[in-house]
Amino acid sequence: MNEEKIYVTRSSMPSYEEYIEAIKPLWDSHWLTNMGQYHHRLEEELRDYLKVPELSLMVNGHMALEMAIQAFGFPRGSEVITTPFTFISTTHAIVRNGLQPVFCDVKIEDGTIDENKIEDLISEKTVAIIPVHVYGHVCNVNTIQKIADKYNLKVIYDAAHAFGVDVDGKGIGSFGDASIFSFHATKVYNTIEGGAVTFKEHSIYEKLYNLKNFGIRGEELVTEVGANTKMNEFCAIMGLCNLRKIESSMKSREMVIDKYRGLLKEIDGICIFDGNSTGTKNYSYFPILVTDTYPGGRNGLYNRLKDHGIFSRKYFYPVTSDQACFKNKYKNIDISNARKLSEQVLVLPLYEELSGEQVEFICSIIKGGR
Ligand SMILES: *Cc1c(COP(=O)(O)O)cnc(C)c1O
Repeated sequence: MNEEKIYVTRSSMPSYEEYIEAIKPLWDSHWLTNMGQYHHRLEEELRDYLKVPELSLMVNGHMALEMAIQAFGFPRGSEVITTPFTFISTTHAIVRNGLQPVFCDVKIEDGTIDENKIEDLISEKTVAIIPVHVYGHVCNVNTIQKIADKYNLKVIYDAAHAFGVDVDGKGIGSFGDASIFSFHATKVYNTIEGGAVTFKEHSIYEKLYNLKNFGIRGEELVTEVGANTKMNEFCAIMGLCNLRKIESSMKSREMVIDKYRGLLKEIDGICIFDGNSTGTKNYSYFPILVTDTYPGGRNGLYNRLKDHGIFSRKYFYPVTSDQACFKNKYKNIDISNARKLSEQVLVLPLYEELSGEQVEFICSIIKGGR
């Protein structure tokens, strides 16, 4: 059978006509980047949508995290408590700021940082905690804040997966000292490439504005060693268009997930990795856990799906601390839950247009029918 390939995701886009119409004014203004009007408009609309007091747009999620960390001015060599069960970006942003990642294990139930293991890892050099709302599963924000307050640490959340998630009516980006979001083409909401930092204090807006534009404060004045991490106007306009359809996009994804849920019930060795019940859902990912009782295990299923043109992702395997770039430096740390999850997790295809028939096809392979 000549089957059409199914990828793990497919970027959400406005109609061609809508986008072309929206970018037309750029041919009049010739203002393509450097905090133009669409950059400002998107910052405003995202502040409202995400229910956060302050937001600074960035060129991507990774640089949002690098800039957020730099904004707090931690001394080089300081330690940051973080999770290894995440995309490599989280760890890289810490290391590239000249800081030491100290890896804390995650909870087996939802994959977020185990708040009960954080205190044991705190030393005189600790300056911050960088947890991740992995798959949109909400970290224990209250306990983490208590620990941070007790030891005078900053908390910066990697909320790249948690776009639009609310906790008790508050935007997820309003917890901690700052949070970062990714608007990469593969995320639930995209600006082609893009990201943002959210935070409470307006002084941080000024700081980030400075850092994302080389630290330039005037024609003849550079006050900081900044970088270039500004979002351009084409991306900002894509963001404005995609924001108009975010609710319907999430609704479609919810329906795909409901279909999966119905079909994946009671298969030995397969369970849906739902996480906890804190916060609203954004339907950004559909992770499952494949245990040893499943024939061939996780890798067997991954390969079998691939043989049928279905590209799932071992998202996240291996854990970041075991990556080649760290040369076994962290091999002996206690992160057994994180390693276990990374050996069992598989993210299944999820996007708006994924049809019921395609979900049935994917599930029939998981059931071992083919
Ligand atoms: C996508 C992602 C990032 C990086 O975002 P980009 O926009 O791709 O740079 C950071 N952290 C996590 C957890 C991510 O999934």
